[in-house]
Amino acid sequence: MIPFLDLMRLNERYTDALQQATNRVVQSGWYILGKELAAFEAAFAAYCQTGYAIGVANGLEALVLVLKAWDFPAGSEVLVASNAYIASILAITQAGLKPVLVEPDPQTYTLSAEHLRDALTPKTKAILPVHLYGRCCDMAAINEVAAEAGLLVLEDAAQAHGAMYQGKRAGNLGDAAGFSFYPTKNLGALGDAGAITTNDANLADKLLFWRNYGSKQKYVNQYKGHNSRLDEMQAAILTAKLAYLEAENKYRRRLAERYLTALKHPVLGLPPSDRIHDDVWHLFVVTHPERDRFRAYLLEKGIQTDIHYPTPPHRQEAYPEFNQLTLPVADKLHREVISLPLNPALTEAQQAYIIETINQATV
Ligand SMILES: *Cc1c(COP(=O)(O)O)cnc(C)c1O
Repeated sequence: MIPFLDLMRLNERYTDALQQATNRVVQSGWYILGKELAAFEAAFAAYCQTGYAIGVANGLEALVLVLKAWDFPAGSEVLVASNAYIASILAITQAGLKPVLVEPDPQTYTLSAEHLRDALTPKTKAILPVHLYGRCCDMAAINEVAAEAGLLVLEDAAQAHGAMYQGKRAGNLGDAAGFSFYPTKNLGALGDAGAITTNDANLADKLLFWRNYGSKQKYVNQYKGHNSRLDEMQAAILTAKLAYLEAENKYRRRLAERYLTALKHPVLGLPPSDRIHDDVWHLFVVTHPERDRFRAYLLEKGIQTDIHYPTPPHRQEAYPEFNQLTLPVADKLHREVISLPLNPALTEAQQAYIIETINQATV
């Protein structure tokens, strides 16, 4: 069986570096908000080419805390893609704001400027572009809409560590960005972790309060903050793994290029190939009109796949207020998408077998 993602194999290559990191933390006697976090924040900000990185508990919290720190009036609207991961939508509602679901470009799965303009109202305060599957949204167009309408832009970069857009990195393309270091992400911790990047010194300073009970000085509380800290153990692990991120993203690009040139199947829809070397291929997502049959065929041949995502946000029970919306692009994508194995632990021999199996498929 070719697993969709074998995290044990992915991390075991770094055993020595990870053991050094964890031993250092155990022996330090200091486990929350210390030197390891400061070192990781400096390294990650440098990597993203931003002025600041602020470690937080996870990716969802990264988005929530920025939206809360921006302090929009309750009920303000935030534009987000209708095919976004549920966490992007949860962040908006947890901050007391209203998500406005905007249909994506069906070719790139990301927000397009025309649809954004149509969704603007006097209550719109921000855009939350999700760099889905490791490809940056068309940020020039999005930032232009934001500038025209006086909106702030919060990138959801949870799938895009290291992705480039017009020579700049994801995380440095809007007013602030949220990253997740969930173990399956391109930069993954061995537990939960997240970060916010920004060039706004004022926001960065506020976020130091927001992640720690709204307090920077013990027992003095400025905001109704969260407990959302990135612990020393995960910070040390992330610093160790950050050193390998570029090499891993490069390998992902090689696998993506091979899929894009070698897959020959009459009805399979391939992801956009115009920015192979800028995208970081968190997921390699294809479409098939009979997705479930195709998936069953691959499984029978020993290939595990996944679906990102089976149910669009507007059809989730958690959001009855969206259940009546008509969003045909999101519905079609959720019916047809299937993610093929693509990760640093996938061997070229395994990929060759996947390609051959797909090219011979009669489904
Ligand atoms: C993983 C992910 C998140 C949430 O990150 P967590 O660390 O799991 O909270 C948010 N948005 C996107 C697009 C993601 O892929």
